Amino acid sequence: MDKKANLSHLYDEVRACRKCPLYKYAKNPVPGAGSEKTQVMFVGEGPGEKEDNRGLPFVGAAGGLLEELLASIGLTREEVYIANVVKHRPPGNRDPKPEEIEACWPYLTRQIEIIQPKLIVCLGRHSLARFLPNVGPISQVHGRAFKRGNQAYMALYHPAVALYNGSYRTTLFEDFKKIPIALKKIN
Ligand code: URA
Repeated sequence: MDKKANLSHLYDEVRACRKCPLYKYAKNPVPGAGSEKTQVMFVGEGPGEKEDNRGLPFVGAAGGLLEELLASIGLTREEVYIANVVKHRPPGNRDPKPEEIEACWPYLTRQIEIIQPKLIVCLGRHSLARFLPNVGPISQVHGRAFKRGNQAYMALYHPAVALYNGSYRTTLFEDFKKIPIALKKIN
């Protein structure tokens, strides 16, 4: 099976997933979207209302900023892959619970195995905590790259924190410039 077919099979499984209660409150699963040929995969926290309505990740206000950030380094959302640590919307946009993140984790690891991104960008503390639990708080490690085994990671603030705060916004744009630099080093 090629990457596209593998992903589509995975999306079917996410659609039928009953491993945690989140599916009960969600309108649509939000498994992930973008190019399966990308070198860089972005992993956020979980779908919000807009994402739940459309079944697509980062299509609300935070997604608008993510698109601006991508454009600042010459990329579009179609050229990268975007996913979340949980695939169904936590009700009322509450934080995903540890057991929900755990239940959803195998889907994310399979997405990574299929896509084989050179760089995984952790957007926000939930994503960072799951991939790199011991590196410290995001306030200290944002903009830094890490290697675990053969996989490279970068820690970035979640775009949602920058929506109404100019200084986080400036930091995010600065940190985004480090993505192409990290990719060049890996290649
Ligand atoms: N925030 C996230 O973490 N993920 C989305 O898909 C949208 C907003």
